[in-house]
Amino acid sequence: MRPEIEPERIHPLNARSPAGGRYVLYWMQAAQRAFWNPALEFAVDLADERRLPLLVAFGLTPHYPEATLRPYAWMLEGLRETARALRERGIGFVMRLEYPPDLALSLAREAAAVVADRGYLRHQRVWRRYLAERAPCPVVEVEGDAVVPVETAYPRAAVSAAVLRRRIRPLLPRFLRPLGERAPRIRADFAEPSLNPSRPEDILPLLEVDRTVAPVDFPAGTGAARARLRRFIEEDLPRYADLRGDPRQDVTSGLSPYLHFGQISPVEVAWEVFRVGGPGADAFLEELVVRRELALNFVWYTPDYDRWEGLPRWARETLSAHAADPRPALYSLEDLESARTDDPVWNAAQSALVRTGRMHNYLRMYWGKRLLVWTARPEDALRVGLYLNNKYALDGRDPNSYAGVGWCLGLHDRPFPERPIFGKVRPMTPEGFRRKFGEVHPWP
Ligand SMILES: Cc1cc2nc3c(=O)[nH]c(=O)nc-3n(C[C@H](O)[C@H](O)[C@H](O)COP(=O)(O)OP(=O)(O)OC[C@H]3O[C@@H](n4cnc5c(N)ncnc54)[C@H](O)[C@@H]3O)c2cc1C
Repeated sequence: MRPEIEPERIHPLNARSPAGGRYVLYWMQAAQRAFWNPALEFAVDLADERRLPLLVAFGLTPHYPEATLRPYAWMLEGLRETARALRERGIGFVMRLEYPPDLALSLAREAAAVVADRGYLRHQRVWRRYLAERAPCPVVEVEGDAVVPVETAYPRAAVSAAVLRRRIRPLLPRFLRPLGERAPRIRADFAEPSLNPSRPEDILPLLEVDRTVAPVDFPAGTGAARARLRRFIEEDLPRYADLRGDPRQDVTSGLSPYLHFGQISPVEVAWEVFRVGGPGADAFLEELVVRRELALNFVWYTPDYDRWEGLPRWARETLSAHAADPRPALYSLEDLESARTDDPVWNAAQSALVRTGRMHNYLRMYWGKRLLVWTARPEDALRVGLYLNNKYALDGRDPNSYAGVGWCLGLHDRPFPERPIFGKVRPMTPEGFRRKFGEVHPWP
């Protein structure tokens, strides 16, 4: 095995003995890319070691939690490119309309071993366990979507970014290094039945999913992600430290959907930015590594990450103590979803989210905090925030979604002086927003 795939990334999921088989299987789920993918490279090495070809399988389920037509359309565009890149490397690719772990399990019956990437959310973990318990061969998970593997970074839930930062920063030199690609020695020549990944337009109509959330015009795939990263480094990274918190400027990388679907490696992004250096790089690595991996830490160690009980006790107590405080207005879910509030900034942000699937981080914080003021109970603010974020955001249904909406209700934050509705949770108000950015809001 290549030394570039650090042992901390490798997690055997069962103790089966190596089996005979026709191929090594990489069940691709979270890391949907052909490049800088430790699970894929580990599978290539394993296939070479066993003198077998490598088969990659992707199970397409129409029941992915909370997913609408928007993410499916975008994901399939990305997979079209990934499948082509795998074929060019002599790796087989199968995509079927099937419950993902069942597809992996049926193909595992003829595999010498199965490699899986790591997913951090509840259903992703259940899927991997389901496969590992039933597969007749070894199942090994390789963690490639964190710069520092989540359990190496910290052994329990971190209460704040400061706690994780102290642990992660010294580990960066060990985990921040390039990973090249290798073609397997034996070229794959499979005739397994598969959907045609180069024709997403034929696959989308087969999916019974919520079609009310339309696809967005935002290029998908590893090539687009890499082009965006290059442009960001050349044009915006030097201004990132000063301007990333200003929603009137467009200086952030826009990489979150690519990271969510695993179309680009966070290690690749961090490596390219780290090589440039400077205050912009420091500020960016704080978001990409510390903040993003704080979200991984949160969902990994907090079974209730998507429930009220997942918030810190102090935050729940103070918000509950203020639950009966009078609200300036109460809006229904329908009003909120249709951006019908008395706050033009919030309405503009919500409308943009519905139309484009995107919202600037600062606006997202403001957007989430306002929900506290307009819903009857703080539990509703959490529920509505997650619902709207995950329904419309292209990068939604991510560990960052739960940590982001949770942050609006006190997660990973500290207590502030007490005030109505917010209690001791950090407030954000329209007046504060206007003081910072003026009356003009140029976002559409
Ligand atoms: C209410 C709320 C909901 C959110 N929902 C999501 C979500 O569904 N999916 C999602 O990926 N992010 C979410 N975030 C975090 C953050 O807003 C986005 O990651 C960021 O705006 C993405 O834009 P970018 O790629 O241009 O970020 P950049 O500023 O270019 O940052 C680079 C990368 O660092 C990570 N990052 C940046 N800011 C944060 C942050 N505050 N916390 C964690 N990671 C961060 C992201 O992976 C991002 O792509 C949410 C934040 C809030 C307050």
